[in-house]
Amino acid sequence: MILLIDLDGTLVDTAHERFKPMKDGEINTDPSLIPVFNGAEDFIRNLISLGHKPVIVSDSVSKYVNPIVKKYFNIPSISLAYKPNTKITEDFLNQQGFNLGNRDEVLVLGDTWLDIELGRAFGFRTILTQFYTASSVSEKDGIGKTWNHLKSGPTYVVKSYKEILEILENPIDSLWAAESFIHGGVSNRSIRLNELNQKGVHTIFRSLGRQEEGECDRYGIASYYKEFNREDRNPDNIEKLAKVVKKYITSIQEAAPNMEWDYFTYVSDKASTIPPNKMKFLFEKIDLNIPKHQLIQWKDIVDGSIRDRPNYKKRREFIANNLFVSTNISLEKKSIIVIDDQFTTGGTAYEVVNMLRKNGASNILFITLFFMTSLVYSNKNCSKCGKAMQIKIRKSDGNRFYSCTPPKYKGNGCGHAESYD
Ligand SMILES: [Zn+2]
Repeated sequence: MILLIDLDGTLVDTAHERFKPMKDGEINTDPSLIPVFNGAEDFIRNLISLGHKPVIVSDSVSKYVNPIVKKYFNIPSISLAYKPNTKITEDFLNQQGFNLGNRDEVLVLGDTWLDIELGRAFGFRTILTQFYTASSVSEKDGIGKTWNHLKSGPTYVVKSYKEILEILENPIDSLWAAESFIHGGVSNRSIRLNELNQKGVHTIFRSLGRQEEGECDRYGIASYYKEFNREDRNPDNIEKLAKVVKKYITSIQEAAPNMEWDYFTYVSDKASTIPPNKMKFLFEKIDLNIPKHQLIQWKDIVDGSIRDRPNYKKRREFIANNLFVSTNISLEKKSIIVIDDQFTTGGTAYEVVNMLRKNGASNILFITLFFMTSLVYSNKNCSKCGKAMQIKIRKSDGNRFYSCTPPKYKGNGCGHAESYD
């Protein structure tokens, strides 16, 4: 496996802005003053002894990168890589004779969305490292941007080097639950979108797979989302998704046996949704030992769609005005699991939680099948106008194609499309 490894924040603990003048080459770098993460040197040595090929890919200048790499890691390195642009990295690896032909033989790892988008633009799997957010220096660099990094859609998220070695050993079983299941693996991992803990009451938001926008590794499951929204969908695939949800919730129950769940519910489809009742169809297929109830519904007359709203605030208002708690059952002190299809900005999820909470609910676990990741452009340029193309999935048949997305679909391209293989 070829591992393209970010330097700052991934191998060395230099997220703090006091290191910036060194990274930019304004002052000389004394490598002995650079804090190396615990275990980083062993991690690189381990990779090499296992037969892997680690390469450092950094956006910092060579005057900074080279002395650090020489002192601690002694492996090939790229400086001024201009991530997430792929060109410099690709040229370097080609010159060095690395074979990038098999996308599954390359992994990109780093602590920011730049690393993840670099990997996705190549179609390689990616690992988001979270080594410092909970510890040490960086109040300034990491926190607040955390959401961007997750939204960029990493294949994996890790908190230690040990977890990376485990992924290398069991790549399929380390994927997100739905992605792993679909690719024949076994995993209870979920994307940790958010969690709140107020006065001992938990609100937990989780997603089971990535719905990728544009280029990605081959494990993203946007095509399942498209199919879920088609009238001629294959019931076997819905069955698969229902099994994943059941397995995931069962794993939560087993991990926290003292936690009692009172109701299992779902966010119903709007009356105007086509195909109708897709969530109901899925919900009915998930059998758990938790009482099922429809607790929340959309109003019958819904004027327009959420997507028509101009901004996040308007979308939240729209959702709040059109969703309601549709039951006479008391929710006072009840713990509830909610399933929904898609998490984009969290508008629906947060409003549903607010609504249940206003009705007295206690712990809430909000699960979505799909997490919509940020858009990544591909390496491929349009043969007509030269702009970067985007991978899209055709709604009618679920097949992928390159699109030079025109303004009508919020792009800046000419509308030309080419096949993807
Ligand atoms: Zn074009």
